Formats: sequence, structure tokens, C-alpha cells
Amino acid sequence: MSDTRYIFVTGGVTSSLGKGIISSSLAMLLQARGYHVTIQKLDPYINIDPGTLNPYEHGECYVTEDGAETDLDLGHYERFLGNPTTQANNVTTGRIYQSVINKERKGDYHGKTVQIIPHITDEIKRRIKILGKANKYDVVITEIGGTVGDIESLPYIESVRQLKWELGSKCLNIHLTLVPYLAASGELKTKPTQHSVKMLLEAGVQPDILVLRTEKKLSLDIRKKVALFCNVDIHSVIESIDVSTIYEVPILMKKEGLDVISLKKLGLSINEEPKLEPWINFLNKLKNPAKQIDVALVGKYVELADSYKSITEAIIHAGAVNNCKVNLNLIHSEKIEKKNGLKLLEGMKGILVAPGFGERGIEGKILAVKYARENNIPFLGICLGMQCAVVEFGRNVLGYKDANSNEFHLRTKFPVIDLMDEQKGVTEMGGTMRLGAYPCELEKGSNAYKAYKKIKTSERHRHRYEFNNKYLEKYKKAGMVPSGINPDADLVEIVEIPEHKWFVGVQFHPEYKSTVLKPHPIFVSFVEAALK
Ligand code: GLN
Repeated sequence: MSDTRYIFVTGGVTSSLGKGIISSSLAMLLQARGYHVTIQKLDPYINIDPGTLNPYEHGECYVTEDGAETDLDLGHYERFLGNPTTQANNVTTGRIYQSVINKERKGDYHGKTVQIIPHITDEIKRRIKILGKANKYDVVITEIGGTVGDIESLPYIESVRQLKWELGSKCLNIHLTLVPYLAASGELKTKPTQHSVKMLLEAGVQPDILVLRTEKKLSLDIRKKVALFCNVDIHSVIESIDVSTIYEVPILMKKEGLDVISLKKLGLSINEEPKLEPWINFLNKLKNPAKQIDVALVGKYVELADSYKSITEAIIHAGAVNNCKVNLNLIHSEKIEKKNGLKLLEGMKGILVAPGFGERGIEGKILAVKYARENNIPFLGICLGMQCAVVEFGRNVLGYKDANSNEFHLRTKFPVIDLMDEQKGVTEMGGTMRLGAYPCELEKGSNAYKAYKKIKTSERHRHRYEFNNKYLEKYKKAGMVPSGINPDADLVEIVEIPEHKWFVGVQFHPEYKSTVLKPHPIFVSFVEAALK
């Protein structure tokens, strides 16, 4: 039997307590102690993956190297650990049911009645254990989406119960709850935690460690009380106090001993102290910036900042490297379309036009590109943002009056952005875009090359449309050049305007690959240009 240890992170009381950050922080600490760790997210919804979800539902859709469309928590896992995740790191209820139903159709259950227990729970357990087996991880941390008590989460909690029984001390449950502060009585309240643990117990799961999210310090008395009511020892009551940046959480968890107590309970040795210097250096830079600048992020999902999670984090990483706090101003592209809308961009030292789908807000994005181009303001266009830059240049520099993307105007005379050949005839929505990592070769001397400092790179994609190569020569002559090409398909992956201070549009999503210890070169260069 494999020696992999499994940690299950569940949440109680409310959602959004930060299970993803706690999981990432613990994983990072274990990794810094020399363990081989990965994190998996189990999502209790019926969608096969979040690829077909509107960003307003669950925030950004994160894309892995192998082209899986996943929950945004996987972005945190990669940013904290610096290791790529895969499709296996994100499983939804939809995917579980799909596998079981496919097996049933093939007759694999030999006439048995197919049930939640054991068939669905077996499939859940298989998906959890597969990560440990295939990759020989020392520790697999599985974050269970939702909150204990949700109907949707029941099969997952039941699977945790079964695995704890099967694997004994090789398994651990960390339960994250909220200890609210009641201002009127000036007290922290433990009752919601007690109730939440009771609910877990009803499902047959005794938590081993409790992480209590709180806005005030927990007194010894509070810790004792929680320990007593919830059957955990006092060292297993961990405080998770609100902090100004998520990147401080690992340091706090180390102070609270979450890594040590987890290793002890799993029977793993507490070898050398974790090596955290690079992380602490990053934190110091982040918390003590020498300067500040304003940068605009123009998009249409700005009401929900999570829609652009990886971009906002990549900007934070790039700001820290540049010793600079970047105030990212989320600007609604539809507001730019209104009278005096461009005023919103005044004072911005850089303009980033976001990825997206559909026609709403497109003209505002195109106006933002024009403003950046004409005013020589550093510009970064990502995916749809790059496509808008191409459309804008076509209309206003090349004089193609109704230049557009076929996504928005099927009968345009100038389809400067066109549906990719491989996409023609695709009718199914889920998982059918150009997804995942593709190679890209950079043009020497370009801004992209100066950023990456090498010719060959690889970046992650999520799109159906591309620069229309029919127009390439015209664009080059007029001053917008391709500086990154996919060597296999000749697709234009990066465009630049060499005349401009710094104007770069990328068809891929550099934000997915920016991590704390390896900020993405495109973002670092963009911030650098904005600072000049
Ligand atoms: N809607 C565009 C396309 O499909 C851009 C997608 C994106 O920004 N991720 O090509």
C-alpha cells in the first residue's frame, strides 16, 4: 500500500473562510520542509467543470497546463507551491456522476443497483487516492468545497469518513470555522464552531485539527473551550486571524504550528525547519513598497474581483519585484462607452484590458486600447484584450472602418480576428476551446523577448478566435508586429507596437503562470514600463 498521507480540509459556519488559502499555506510549509505535496479541490456542483460557468457565478476559470478548466483555488495552489496542477486536481460532482453513469451504461456494475454509497463514494475515493498513487506524493491535501451541512457536500464528507476508517492515522481532517466577534457584547463566540463540529460528528467525522478564522486574537480560554467542546487537544486549535495579504497566512500558520501538528498526527518526521527566506523576502517587499502607481484593469466582470483573480495576483507579484504597490483600478468597460467615460482612465500609468467572452462591453475595451495607444501609456492586452488591440489598430490605423472579431460581427468586411480552423464545426461548449499549454517563439529584440530573456516559451490558452493571418503583412507595415508565434501552427500569439513605450497584446493567459517566487516576466515588464 502506498505511504501517501491524506489531509482533508472541510469548512463550517459559512463559505469564503479561506479553505483554499489554508490548504495552500499548509502545503507550502510542508513543501518547504522537503515533502512532496499536492492539493486537490472537490467541488460539489453538477457542472462537469467551471468552464461553462459565468464568472459572476464562481469567479475566474483557471486553466492548467494540461488544458483543464478548473476552480480558481487551483490558481492559489500553483501560486503558493510553484508546481503545476492537472485535471486530476479538480473534481466536481458532475464529473463523478458522469464516470459512474458511463460505467453503468457499459455494464461494469454487472446488474447491481447503482447507489450513492458505495458507487459514488467509491468513485470519490478513487479520485482522491489516484493523485497519491500516480505521482508518489508524500501528502495529498484535498479541499472539500462548500460548507458542512450542505446537501451537495454529503457524499464527500461520507467519503472522508470512509477513508479515515480505511487509512487510519494516514488521514487527517482539518476543519475551518468562523469565530465571530460580537461588537455589542465585545465577545468572540464559539457556538457556531461547536455546531459545525457537531454536524461533522453526525456525519461520522471527528476533526483532528480546528482552524478558527477570527478578526480578534483568541484567548487561551477560548481555545480551551473549543478544545473541550469539540474533542480536540488544545494544540490542535489553530488561530487564523485576518491579515492584510493572503501571502502572510503561511507565516501565521507556521507560528501557530499547523505544519508541525499535522506532521505529528500523520506520523511523519519533523525534519529540518522550513526554508522560508525567499517567501519572507517577497512579503517584505510587498509590505514595504518604495512607490505606488495606479493601473487600470478594464473588464466587464469587475463587480466581482474574483473574476480576474489570477490577474490581480500576478500584478501583486510583479509589483513586489518592482518594489512598488500597484493600485489596480477595476474599471467597467461599459462605463467607458458612456459620455466622458475615458475620464476614468485619467492618471493611469498602465492600462490592462482583460480577457472575456461575448459582445457586451467590447466597444469600451476598444476605446481603452485607443486611449493607451494614442497617449503612449503602457498597455497589456490579454486574450480578448489582445484581440481588441488588433481590432482597434485595424479600425483607427489601417482605416478598416468596421474591423471586428467574427465573435461579435459575423459579416464584417474586415474579420481581423477570426475563428480558428480547428474550432470550425465545434458545437459542444464544455472543454472544446483551444486549452492549455502551447509553445511560443519570441522575436529577438521585442518587448516580449526582453521580458522573457529567451526565445522559446510555453503559455496557457483559452480561446476560440485568433489573429487573422490574411492581414499580417498590412499590420506589420503599419507598425503592429507579431513578436510571438506558435511554431507549429503559425498562429500569432503576441502583438506589439515597437513605436510605443510598451504595447503588448498576448493571445495566451500569462497570469496563470505567475507565482510568488516566480512572478511572470510579462507582468513584471508591464509594471516596470508603467513605472518609467
Ligand atoms: N472570446 C475570445 C475567444 O474566444 C477571447 C477569450 C478569452 O479572452 N479568454 O477567442
